[in-house]
This record gives sequence, structure tokens and C-alpha cells, in this order.
Amino acid sequence: MKKYFACLVFFFHCLMATAAQHDFSIVALGVNGGVIDGNLNAYLIRDTHDQNYLSLDAGSLLPGIIKGIEKNSFNSLSVMPDNTLDAAGVILQHHIKGYFISHAHLDHIAGLIISSTDDKKKPIYALPSVIDIITTHYFNWKAWPNFTDKGHGFRLSQYSLQALESNKFYPVAETSLSIQLWPLSHDHYESSMALLRNNQDHYFAYFGDTGPDLIEKANNLETIWKMLGKKIAQGKLKGMIIEVSYPNGTPDKQLYGHLTPDWLITELKVLEKYSGDAGIKNLNIIISHIKPSLHKGIDRRHQIMQQLTQANTMGVNFHFLEQGQQITF
Ligand SMILES: [Zn+2]
Ligand SMILES: [Zn+2]
Repeated sequence: MKKYFACLVFFFHCLMATAAQHDFSIVALGVNGGVIDGNLNAYLIRDTHDQNYLSLDAGSLLPGIIKGIEKNSFNSLSVMPDNTLDAAGVILQHHIKGYFISHAHLDHIAGLIISSTDDKKKPIYALPSVIDIITTHYFNWKAWPNFTDKGHGFRLSQYSLQALESNKFYPVAETSLSIQLWPLSHDHYESSMALLRNNQDHYFAYFGDTGPDLIEKANNLETIWKMLGKKIAQGKLKGMIIEVSYPNGTPDKQLYGHLTPDWLITELKVLEKYSGDAGIKNLNIIISHIKPSLHKGIDRRHQIMQQLTQANTMGVNFHFLEQGQQITF
């Protein structure tokens, strides 16, 4: 009995030690970059000590929440009791405390618009150019009622639109996270990366759609790699989510501001250059925004997974999440 108890204590200690190393919990609500609705770019992130999430983009919300419940991805959450709502309603209304929208393309915001009739009062964080598109083209009483506190006609004010200046940290309401936005070039259209910081001064980077610097004729990514390289050298970057939309061999002209495995590797080599002696070995990278193919016998996901694995000489950890899957870093 004594031995059994000692084992149990040891097991508990191990469990605590692993839990203590984890800073961020992520649930994938949508992992694709278009074509098939219901599984479009959206990830929930929270500090592992918080009970509240920020949604990183919102291409699909409820289909992902429902998948997440099926996969027990919210089991470590102390769920708020509410006997008027079903489990998905509780997550949407009580545990998502805000949205970051990287850019206003539909595959990043459709879920937010569609579920807005059954959502609660909360902020939307984005660059000013993105806020402008949201008010002009979506919540304008023509495409959809104006659920925001800005823009056309009567303002229902369910969503407070927070236009964030880039390169400044802002608190994410009702969480222990702060957010800082960095502009990206997406076929010469403004997209953005969100850098999340927790109370331990640890970081997580979420990239909206982006093309490579060379094709975009920009240096947005290099500016970000310089900044993230320092955090990697200090051991403070816990992971990132970045897109790979198309497989290798897609002509540069047909990338429309997206990355292929080769282009991501090219960009990661720049990050490696700025990351100090240890390089980017073991860096956790979630690959997102794969565009599904409707052609017979083509599995884009599998293709991209293979191409990235083969080219991974830097020793990074590529992760390919399924809709509803949970991961902690
Ligand atoms: Zn997209
Ligand atoms: Zn886009």
C-alpha cells in the first residue's frame, strides 16, 4: 500500500512538472485555407492557468467547437455552469473572450459573422485597415446587421472594435495575455501576425496569411524574424502557427500571397540566422491554412506534410492539427 502511495505521489509530481512547463493551450477550430466551409482558419489560445480563450481568426467557430468537445479538447477547462446553454454554447459565449482577426478575408472571419446572432459582448482586435473592412463590408446592415460599435447605421455594440497600433502590447480583456500586432504582406494586401505574451514573459506567434518577402517585395517577415530570433535565443518563444497553402511546384505567380513548403523553409532559414547559436531546433510550428484540392487522388495535406518533413534539416517540430485537436506548448 505504501509503495502504491509512493508511486502515486511520484506520478503526481511528474504530472505537475510537465504541466508547469506548458504555457499555452491551443484548440484548432479550423485548419484549412478555403474551398470547403466548416473547417476554416481559427485557433483558440489560452494561458494554461486561464479558463478563457482568445480566438485567433474565426473562419469556422461552432463546427470546430463541436469537434473539440467530441475530442475531449476542453476537458482541462473548468467549464462555467450554465443550464440554459449546450456545451458548445458555453464555450462560445463564456470561454471565448475576444477575437483577433489577422485580415478580413472571408476564410478568416465567416464563423464570427455567422455565429454573431448567438454570441456575447466582447472585443475584436485587429489592425485599423482590417477594422475598416469589417465595418464597411460586413457589419453594415446590408451584408449583415451591424453587431459592432462603429460604422454604418444603428450599432448593436455587441462587439467593441479595437483598432490596435502595430508594435505595441495591449492587454487581452479577461485573460492574462497581452497582444502585439505586426503587419504582413499578403499579395500586397495588409495582413498581420499576433504575438501573444503571458505573465511568465513567454510568447506565441500566430501568423495570418503571408507571402514570402522576396515575392511580396517587402521585408515584413524579416522584421518579424529578427524580433522572434531574439526570443528564441532567450528561450522565450513557445511556438508558432504559420500558413503553408500550396505544395511545392506551384508557380510563384499563382501563390497570391501565400507560402509553399520551400518558401516556408527559405523564410525559416532567415529566422535561424537571427536565433543565436542553438538555431531553431525543436521550435514548435503548427502548419495551417492548407488549401484542399478537389482533384481526384490529390491529398494536399499529405503532400505538404511530406515535403516539409523531407526539407526539415533545421530540426524544427512541425505539427499538423486536425479540426478539434488540442495541443499545449
Ligand atoms: Zn486565408
Ligand atoms: Zn487571405
